[in-house]
Amino acid sequence: MPDYPQSLIAFQRRFADDRACAEYLMEVRWPEGFRCPACGHDRGWALAAKAWTYECARCARQTSLRAGTVMHGSKLALHIWFWAAYLMATHSNGISALQLQRQLGLGSYKSAWLLCAKLRSAMVDPERNPLTGLIEIDETAINHRTRSDPPAGGSGRSHQGKLLIAGAVEVVGPGPRRIRLAHVRDYSADSLHGFIATAAAPGAVAKTDGWSAYAGAPGVTHDRHVIGVMAAHVVLPWVHRVFSNLKTWALGVYHGLRPKHLQSYLDEFVFRFNRRRTRHAAFKSLLGIATRAKPITYKMLISPDATG
Ligand SMILES: [Zn+2]
Repeated sequence: MPDYPQSLIAFQRRFADDRACAEYLMEVRWPEGFRCPACGHDRGWALAAKAWTYECARCARQTSLRAGTVMHGSKLALHIWFWAAYLMATHSNGISALQLQRQLGLGSYKSAWLLCAKLRSAMVDPERNPLTGLIEIDETAINHRTRSDPPAGGSGRSHQGKLLIAGAVEVVGPGPRRIRLAHVRDYSADSLHGFIATAAAPGAVAKTDGWSAYAGAPGVTHDRHVIGVMAAHVVLPWVHRVFSNLKTWALGVYHGLRPKHLQSYLDEFVFRFNRRRTRHAAFKSLLGIATRAKPITYKMLISPDATG
């Protein structure tokens, strides 16, 4: 497995230009050398006229090094993608499009935003496993921001003008392991059961504050704690800490979240939390090169956004 730079200086040395990035991609994608995704042949050559594209010696299929990754179809240089993924994966709080634009010297805010959006879209692994064992589950509301309005008010479970979020924390031993967050329409049994069904594996134990809508969620054992508002952080300490960190992060990095794209920001928070100890894996996941076992499909090759 190719090495992974641990510092900015090391990263700059390792990925100094597009060639170095391409070599790294080659190594991750085809560790035993080029292999044609169409016919499996192991001989091909790099095309002089098309950057980082290989032509199969047997079937003449052309395969871009970026095909099947989040970088496919983008005009941005490889090293820009590498830098963006590195900054997003290693900054403990992430990075906004505006910060990225400035740090990488990108020409427009729009291309920085698109770059962030594409990387963010790679943050949910479609094959991720649901949470297991003991899971703290709770819901929260955060004030949403519009361009001109001040944050909206309201409190408790009356939630006009708020963004509603359900959260789950897998608790292993003394601490949290993985989390899930979802934008929910309301706090009804329908919405919350839907969240639990996606987040928790069958047989998990759902620990909640006793809100009636959680009762009867299929597939999980319900560990219900009826408590006053003041005591919720005692019974469900981890999910409360996650909510609190989420709110601080949303204000600090994004100056508040807006309803549009809320789920993708929650996905980013979850991605970073769940990979807090494996930043190198996060970097690869973001570029879409984490799982090279998957074959590259025709759809991926013809559609620029198929994997984005
Ligand atoms: Zn071939």
